[in-house]
Amino acid sequence: MAINRSSSHKTKKSVQTAQTELLVYLNGEFVPKSEAKVSVFDHGLLYGDGVFEGIRSYNCLVFKLKEHLMRLAESAHTIMLQLPLTGEQLGDAIVETLKRNRLRDAYVRVVVTRGVGDLGLDPASCKAPTVFIITDKIILYPESFYRNGMDIITVPTVRNLPEAINPALKTLNYLNNIMAKIEAKNSNYREALMLNHQGYVAECTGDNIFIVKNGIVQTPPTYLGALRGITRQAIMDLALRNDIPSQERVLTRHDLFNADEAFLTGTAAEVVPVVKIDGRKIGTGKPGKITRKLMSAFQDLTRRDGLRYTL
Ligand code: PMP
Repeated sequence: MAINRSSSHKTKKSVQTAQTELLVYLNGEFVPKSEAKVSVFDHGLLYGDGVFEGIRSYNCLVFKLKEHLMRLAESAHTIMLQLPLTGEQLGDAIVETLKRNRLRDAYVRVVVTRGVGDLGLDPASCKAPTVFIITDKIILYPESFYRNGMDIITVPTVRNLPEAINPALKTLNYLNNIMAKIEAKNSNYREALMLNHQGYVAECTGDNIFIVKNGIVQTPPTYLGALRGITRQAIMDLALRNDIPSQERVLTRHDLFNADEAFLTGTAAEVVPVVKIDGRKIGTGKPGKITRKLMSAFQDLTRRDGLRYTL
C-alpha cells in the first residue's frame, strides 16, 4: 500500500504540560484535549470525508496494530485519500500518544480527514489531510453483559448498500450506524442488529455478529454489508486453533433465533455473548460453552499478542 512520506507530520516534541489533561496528537503536535481543535472547513466535518480506526491497548500491548493500520490504509486508498504518514510513522505516533498519556489500557482513535477545503464537495480544494490520534481510557459494557449475555433488537434502518457506501470501509460517514443506534436506544436496547437491503443479517452498529449452531461458529460474509472486523478475524483464527469449525454463511433472522449460541465481536466490546434477539431466547438463554471458550481464548490473546511499549 503506497503511503506518502511527509516530514510535516513527523512526531514533534512538544512541551509536556504538568496538567493531567489528555494530550491529543494533532498534525504532528501533541496538544491538550481542550486545545485539540479542527477547522469548521475541514471536509471530515463538512462531509464525513475521511477514514478512521479504533484500536486498543492491553497492559502496554497495542493489539493488532498492523491489521488496523492496513485497514486504515485500504479505506484511504479506496476513497483516494493519500495518507500523509507511512504505516510506521502512524504506529510510532500512536505509541507516542499512549506514552505521553501514560496509558496502559486504552482505546485509541486514529482519524485522517480530507482536510481543510472550501465549501464544495470536490476534495481537490483540500490541500492536506488532517491527522489526529486520541487515546483515552476504555469505556466498557457493564460486566453483567459478559457474565449473563446481552439482549439486542433488529432495527428498521438497513445497512448501507455495498454499492453505495461500502460497509467494508471505515469512513467518517457513520450516520447509517448512528440511525440504527438511535432506533435501538428508542426501544431501550444498547445494540442494534442491522440487516442488509435483502433482509440478510449484516452486523451490529459497532460490532460483528456470530452464531454457533451444531458446534459450528458462523458469521455473515462481509460482502453482504459488514466491516471486516479485526476482532471477527481474530475469533475465526482462534476457532481454527482450538479445533472449532467456523464458516462464513449467509444468515437470516430465523437462523439467529434458532442458533445454539450468539455473540458479538468488536475492538471496544471484545467478545460479548448475546442471549436474546428480538425477544427470542437464544439457546439456553445463557452464554454458550463455545462462546465462553472463545471469550477466554481472546482474553489470553490480548495478554500476549501485540506491540509492546513502556511507560
Ligand atoms: N462493525 C462496525 C460497523 C464497526 O464499527 C466495528 C468497530 N470498528 C466492528 C464491526 C468491529 O470491528 P473491529 O473488530 O475491527 O473493531
